[in-house]
Amino acid sequence: MRELDDIERYEFKKKLDEIKSCKGQHTELISLYIPPNRRISEVMNYLRNEYSQSTNIKSKTTRKNVLSAIESIMSRLKYFKKPPENGLVFFVGHKTAGANQTEMVTYVIEPPFPVPSFLYRCDSSFYTQPLEDMLTERDVYGLFLIDRRECTIGILRGKRIETIDYLTSRVPGKHGRGGQSQRRFERLIEIAAHEWFEKCGKKISEIFLSEKDLKGIFVGGPGPTKYYFVEGDYLHYEIKNKIIDIIDTGYTDESGLRELVMKISEKMHDLKISQEKRVMRRFLKEITKKKKSLAIYGEDEVRRALEMGALDILLISEGLDRYRVKLVCESCGYEEEKTIDTIEMKKMENNPPKCKKCGGNMVMKEKSEIVEELSKKAREKGTKVELISTDSEEGSTLLSTFGGIAGILRFEV
Ligand code: ZN
Repeated sequence: MRELDDIERYEFKKKLDEIKSCKGQHTELISLYIPPNRRISEVMNYLRNEYSQSTNIKSKTTRKNVLSAIESIMSRLKYFKKPPENGLVFFVGHKTAGANQTEMVTYVIEPPFPVPSFLYRCDSSFYTQPLEDMLTERDVYGLFLIDRRECTIGILRGKRIETIDYLTSRVPGKHGRGGQSQRRFERLIEIAAHEWFEKCGKKISEIFLSEKDLKGIFVGGPGPTKYYFVEGDYLHYEIKNKIIDIIDTGYTDESGLRELVMKISEKMHDLKISQEKRVMRRFLKEITKKKKSLAIYGEDEVRRALEMGALDILLISEGLDRYRVKLVCESCGYEEEKTIDTIEMKKMENNPPKCKKCGGNMVMKEKSEIVEELSKKAREKGTKVELISTDSEEGSTLLSTFGGIAGILRFEV
């Protein structure tokens, strides 16, 4: 799916505004959404049925208008063998045009994104919501900046930075008066700081949770406070899991948001890397937990969890050069599955391994790349698969430290 460019977006929006402005005198404006996979013959049947139902409409004018609208759609639909790539949308009906005057309007739209579901609606206005949803910006990121004095929360929507909230704290500076009251003073500071972080965490979580389809979150601010805050118990776990990167910025106010976006803009192009960083960050965090860790690694352990249906996410490295093979004994039929690398593969071809049971020759019956084989198994079990590149630091860690195969569990096993 490709994103609309600014011009296409503008034109599409204008067209929608025009359609939305149409008003019928009664419920006589028809909106019809046809998804790409829907058969035209099925739609025709549906419309025939609607047509016969509409002959029961009491008001003569409304009945006439509705029937002619359905006729109009059917006559246009005849020219389609199947719906276009993204489906088809019809807006047809008699809109009011001045005193007691109506005018028949017909809009046939091939939308920029696939029509999600079949819909027929007859109302006094056209139903445009599904098309408007296609216009909403898909590239949406959460941003926040934090230190002990300020917190700015923003959202990056496409190219636009919105400042959503700005909070300031009353946490006093760390320099006290010295002497006996110093320790007490420092303790008060820490209490105030804790309260400040709690307040910010609540606000940030609230704002970002209400923003569905947030692709990720970037954190900025000067000094180590932002790390302390992110690692602490202040943010909702879903929000924490969405953090892609933490970056040093000079400011924590509105200008800091721009600074943050400038610094991340290189990374914004590569969403795949962002997603990868996020899931690896989660994995690395899990793995360091002493208790209740949901991270596992190593082929055997991951395979076991996968079979059990306990694996939530499978992390598998692109750099993995291994095969899963099935060997069968020529003499007794004994079968064995094995993971081998390219070198072992070569060896095996020249020098077949011996059967554990009878000593006969084992021959290779099936062979697939391990990435492919494990991903297929994962799909069958409803496990999400993240193919991790070796480009990022996190990605190369997966291959070098964890053997290229790891996972995050749904629950402790
Ligand atoms: Zn055998």
